[in-house]
Amino acid sequence: MKAWENNIRKVTPYTPGEQPQKAGIIKLNTNENPYPPSPRLAQLLKEMNSKDLRLYPNPAASSLVDALAAYHGLNADQVFVGVGSDDVLALAFLTFFHSSKPILFPDITYSFYDVWADLFQIPYETPALQEDFSILPEDYYRENGGVIFPNPNAPTGIAMGLNAIRNILDHNQDVVVIVDEAYVDFGAESALALIDQYENLLVVRTFSKSRSLAGLRIGYAMGNPLLIKYLSDVKFSFNSYTMNQPSLYLGSRAIEDEAYFQETLRKIVNTREWAKRELRELGFEFTDSKANFIFVRHPSHPAKELFQALRQAGIYVRHFDRERISDYLRITIGSQEEMETLIRFLKNNLSS
Ligand SMILES: *Cc1c(COP(=O)(O)O)cnc(C)c1O
Repeated sequence: MKAWENNIRKVTPYTPGEQPQKAGIIKLNTNENPYPPSPRLAQLLKEMNSKDLRLYPNPAASSLVDALAAYHGLNADQVFVGVGSDDVLALAFLTFFHSSKPILFPDITYSFYDVWADLFQIPYETPALQEDFSILPEDYYRENGGVIFPNPNAPTGIAMGLNAIRNILDHNQDVVVIVDEAYVDFGAESALALIDQYENLLVVRTFSKSRSLAGLRIGYAMGNPLLIKYLSDVKFSFNSYTMNQPSLYLGSRAIEDEAYFQETLRKIVNTREWAKRELRELGFEFTDSKANFIFVRHPSHPAKELFQALRQAGIYVRHFDRERISDYLRITIGSQEEMETLIRFLKNNLSS
């Protein structure tokens, strides 16, 4: 190593799922929505004026913040927006997890949490999920520097009820508790109803999964105005203009088409439950996912082999080569047609 390399921050980065450029593949590896965003957005895209790009965007991202506040029945000072929820979560780690005590998150969870903790040198401990992959609230009843978990959890898809979340909050009044609701729209109970009661609760959402807009990069947090102020202060100490003009414009209008949103959610949930029945028939075991993916294992077919065979057939799923979960595949719920192709392939592959 060169001498100057000693003075450098070295990190092990998060590895995002593959984004293959090949046409014709079935992409079930990064939990994107198989359905396009509302057709209204196509019209808005055409109406966008390139002249509007000359100026810096509004640093407070007011149009988007106001639209989200109105949608959720909140005040604007309870909403913070960022470049995808990854940006919001990274800033939240930087802002709220500043204790010498370890923060807590599950051993099996979104694999960006430990990356941010390492990047910001935040100490952390990872209570093990139960044998059935559920979170045990009691594991979070101890001294800590903050708590974060997704609900539903990823990549297990298991949802925690509001009572369990309330219990965790009741035992953690002195730290910030973040609930990452990236997948909540697919069938879990939101903790949003609790933000008035718990001023240390931050709820984080994204447009990437349920709203079919991963490419726009919009995430947001909701919570007590004081939490939002602290988060904004850190953001403005880092980058004033996180949200670009097209995202502000399209994002603030994207939530208007509620009927289309509900329709795509309904289709995905129906396909998910259909896929569960088919996979069970093929001998797969899986958690009761409330998200837009299923976390499956087959007792007699190693995940790695299935992963390779599927990939060969142009069907991309996700495999995490990590302790406790290396037997599992995470399969994003695609369109009904895509899932039928997947099931057909598995039927043929498992019997041969
Ligand atoms: C996908 C995901 C995110 C980040 O999504 P963005 O595209 O950055 O909004 C955050 N948390 C979890 C648990 C996720 O699965």
